[in-house]
Amino acid sequence: MVRVGQTEGSVDLARLAGLRPAGVICEIMDDDGTMARMPALEKFSTEHGIGICTIADLVEYRVRTESFVHRAAETVIPTSHGGDFKMIAFENDIDKLTHIALVKGDIDPEVPTMVRVHSECMTGDIFGSMRCDCGDQLHKAMEMINAEAPA
Ligand SMILES: [Zn+2]
Repeated sequence: MVRVGQTEGSVDLARLAGLRPAGVICEIMDDDGTMARMPALEKFSTEHGIGICTIADLVEYRVRTESFVHRAAETVIPTSHGGDFKMIAFENDIDKLTHIALVKGDIDPEVPTMVRVHSECMTGDIFGSMRCDCGDQLHKAMEMINAEAPA
């Protein structure tokens, strides 16, 4: 998923099939000597009973069936905008960026949960810039979530 190419796709396909993560890539040529394109490849596939998929198919499948983030760290932080929050760091396995979730109370999938998705704004969130209200919005959301969370 870091590089979406035929080489990586062949390894992904073998791995998804439960095989050794390796592959051989070859080009199928049309009768005129040019590289065969999808319509000709589909015909070839049908004629020879060979399965066929595209790199886009593999990417779509992996995005649908796999998670590309993992929980990297967890702690409790006392805050001045709503008391204690559980802070969970999630690392993206593809770009290695870290994202933070602040969680209040226990999440019950059967009960609607108040959520704020906050985009990072260093100047507003950290330095209290007056050019935007990002920090104020974040603090207000933390206070609202604290008020909503069961005691
Ligand atoms: Zn901002």
